[in-house]
Amino acid sequence: MRQYYIAGNWKMNKNKAEAVELAKGLVAALKDGKNKYMIGVPYVYLDAVAQVVKGSNIQLGAQDVAATSNGAHTGEISTEMLKDIGCQTVILGHSERRHEIGESDELINKKVRKALADGLDVVLCIGELLSDREAGNAEDVCAFQLSADLSGVTAEQMAKVTIAYEPVWAIGTGKTATPADAQAIHKFCRDHIAKLYSKDVADKVIIQYGGSMKPENAQELLNQPDIDGGLIGGAALKVESFEKICKTY
Ligand code: PEP
Repeated sequence: MRQYYIAGNWKMNKNKAEAVELAKGLVAALKDGKNKYMIGVPYVYLDAVAQVVKGSNIQLGAQDVAATSNGAHTGEISTEMLKDIGCQTVILGHSERRHEIGESDELINKKVRKALADGLDVVLCIGELLSDREAGNAEDVCAFQLSADLSGVTAEQMAKVTIAYEPVWAIGTGKTATPADAQAIHKFCRDHIAKLYSKDVADKVIIQYGGSMKPENAQELLNQPDIDGGLIGGAALKVESFEKICKTY
């Protein structure tokens, strides 16, 4: 039985005081929560938020990490640095990094392998553009991203990997995939992971849905057999809305 895993992606939002206040609110709101929780915090506020979530049931996540170790890499943040301040998880392959920054699957794969090798958990985001979906290529895009981004990742390491299926056309747009459409792709992704690894790995891997998930639609999405949680953007920026999603089940 897979546990529900609800994660918030704060993206490039909040100032320091607001980040600390939101984290404090979530620690209080979720202290009796039954599921797995994570917040993906901007780099500069990770340390301050780490002090707030320490000892709570909320994992601390970063929104990216360098593919290399400490050294001459101006502007980069390493796995070593993230772990040093108490970060357990990193979100990788988010569509905003793929399509705004131009991250390739090759780079994302390097980051995934580096993070796992250094003991961080990974939330790997995949998902198709609207043009891919309209051309009937959504499954092919997801299969390609899974194969490329997980290349070299072992079956044992998959225990530390969560997949977030996020159709790009649904992120921050208010448009949500229908529960049936989302379920179909989640099932397809799970079957693809079974081909890459084994049925056992596929049965255990958590696959979150992301894309305008909110309290109003969380239940029907989380009711689907292959949707094991959510990666939440906009609705993760307020205690009330994130708490409601976290407590759907
Ligand atoms: C996201 O950023 O991963 C996301 C799903 O955003 P939103 O919930 O705002 O669509």
